[in-house]
Amino acid sequence: MKICERCLNDAAQPFRVGFLGDVCLGCITHDERDDPNFDRSSQIFDMIRSKRSPTGYHAVVPVFGDADDYVTVKLCLDNGINPLILAINNYFYSDIGWHNLQNLIDFFDVDSVIMSPNFVYYQSLVKRSLVRKRDIYLPYQYLLHSYSLKLALEKKVKYIVMPINQPCEYTGNFSHFDEAKKSFWYHFNFDFQRTAIEDFLGSGSLQGLDDLESYCYPEHHKSSGVVGLYLSDYMNWDPGLQNVNVKQLGFVSEKQTRTFDPFQRVGSSVYYELHDLLRLKKHGYLKVRDQLNREVRFRRISRDNALRVYDEYLSKTWNLDTFYQWLDITKTGAQWLSEHVFGMKEQECHFTSIDTPREVWQAINWSSLNDMSSTSVKQFCMFEKELHI
Ligand SMILES: [Zn+2]
Repeated sequence: MKICERCLNDAAQPFRVGFLGDVCLGCITHDERDDPNFDRSSQIFDMIRSKRSPTGYHAVVPVFGDADDYVTVKLCLDNGINPLILAINNYFYSDIGWHNLQNLIDFFDVDSVIMSPNFVYYQSLVKRSLVRKRDIYLPYQYLLHSYSLKLALEKKVKYIVMPINQPCEYTGNFSHFDEAKKSFWYHFNFDFQRTAIEDFLGSGSLQGLDDLESYCYPEHHKSSGVVGLYLSDYMNWDPGLQNVNVKQLGFVSEKQTRTFDPFQRVGSSVYYELHDLLRLKKHGYLKVRDQLNREVRFRRISRDNALRVYDEYLSKTWNLDTFYQWLDITKTGAQWLSEHVFGMKEQECHFTSIDTPREVWQAINWSSLNDMSSTSVKQFCMFEKELHI
């Protein structure tokens, strides 16, 4: 299999990373930062600021509540943009996740909508997604990307602002200068696993629920006035550098089992556990590889050290018990899932203590940041409080 000579990407990436010679397109697009015309952030913020909705907002900003979201909201406010925050309760938040989301809203004193879907229906969709698509985030992805567009339409807001254009940053499916925009095509290919909600639901059995409509992407002719864009296309987006600063805004960083980075995608009960296991089984890599690639590309770690660190993470074991409890299934059902969906024997999945390979701290200067980080006490919190605008 072809492997990039600069980072750890290989040709088996789910988004089919391309190569230019022996270098992956993710590394090639990263180098676009050296272009003197790369930073177009002031133009993009001017453009967003020029369109204020009758409801007073310049942009809908969908968030989970992690450090990249803090950076996004701060950038908006610093540039005179009044954001309407949208969070979807995916029922996977930990206590740290809820703290970070509520603190983001309180600290920046911004209007927000927290959408909590019908739990029983949502849970059934997660089960269906797990068995059929080997994925637990698909229902959330449908909601996040469809509902954010609906909210923009409802509030007559022109822009939707998101932090990272992942297919550009990680695998180079786009150039930054393509300025990829939110569209059904984009989400279909990179977020919806090339499955429209109608095909995912199949015929009939789940029809008629109150919030089914929230999962369905609006038709193009109704939504064409809204523009969704990714800030990482317009500026030197460096989570390894900028996320550290959000601690002083009340953000709680979290020690993780499967990454050295206590800022990105934290506050979830599944992201670095079950979700990462599914990524490994389906696509052959862990999330931390994206983050190691980032550190390699920003020249904060050598490729050799990154490879050693990555091998350490690959050798860690898994804990799926809390997810099985959340899924409310029998022990037999859990065994069936372990064997048939995750392809593992029972003894392979047991509790993993939070210890990060020593290699990581030797290779990357993240140790003091990790020491200052917390460990979640409660997993799968339904919600703490619901805010309305
Ligand atoms: Zn590469």
